[in-house]
Amino acid sequence: MAGKLKIAVVKFASCSGCQGVLLDAEEELPFLVDNHLDIQYFIEATSRIGDGPYDLALVEGSISVPEDLKRVKEIREKSKIVATIGACATTGGIQALRNWSSLNDFSRTVYLNPEWIASLDKSTPISEHIKVDYELNGCPISKQQLLDFIVSMVIGKRPRIERNSVCVECKRLGNVCVLVADKLPCMGPVTKAGCGALCPSYGRDCYSCFGPFEDINVESLKKKFKEIGLKDYEVLHKFREFTGYSKQFREVKV
Ligand code: SF4
Ligand code: SF4
Repeated sequence: MAGKLKIAVVKFASCSGCQGVLLDAEEELPFLVDNHLDIQYFIEATSRIGDGPYDLALVEGSISVPEDLKRVKEIREKSKIVATIGACATTGGIQALRNWSSLNDFSRTVYLNPEWIASLDKSTPISEHIKVDYELNGCPISKQQLLDFIVSMVIGKRPRIERNSVCVECKRLGNVCVLVADKLPCMGPVTKAGCGALCPSYGRDCYSCFGPFEDINVESLKKKFKEIGLKDYEVLHKFREFTGYSKQFREVKV
């Protein structure tokens, strides 16, 4: 594209770990900023506050408090392309575990003055409120995937985002399957690739921080989990972790 890509990195309810992935690109970021990126808004990195418009907004975090509802719409209006980054923004994140319980019960348990807490009943993904052009998954996102994505935006190319399962990455790496060999409840068969099968490569089960891809076979995996000895509530808990409020996982019942 002509000129530098005007970029905003925006945070809603999140731990900032996904923005941290961009800051962690210590070797690549200076080159990108010198030559291709005009960082207009990135509170974690610079005190400069550019009001937009932006070519690209990277949005981290879920919609969790009333102020978020207006702000996320403003970001959409100011940005040509909106990409959500991480499990919080794409699925509601770990804070969405409250969605199956009563917010009042939590507030009363944690806070001395729960009436002072202004929070939405549910923590929801950004895509439930505005049109999202691209989603980068993970908790946190993969640095390589983020850099590939930014470079694609800079050169005006359609980004390559994985649509396979983690199992495909596992097979490419020649890993021994921990679900079959060790009877660990691995979520890889229903989880979008992109992490490089990180957990199975170290002999542990995937917990689906990248969330589901489109055509998942939940029934088959539930059956397999029961075969290896999981009780119904344990099967349910497997689908209620970092990406439990994704559209596909939130409907899972046992
Ligand atoms: S997706 Fe994970 S790493 Fe990223 S902001 Fe949310 S909790 Fe933090
Ligand atoms: S270890 Fe998990 S991700 Fe890897 S092939 Fe087995 S089920 Fe799939």
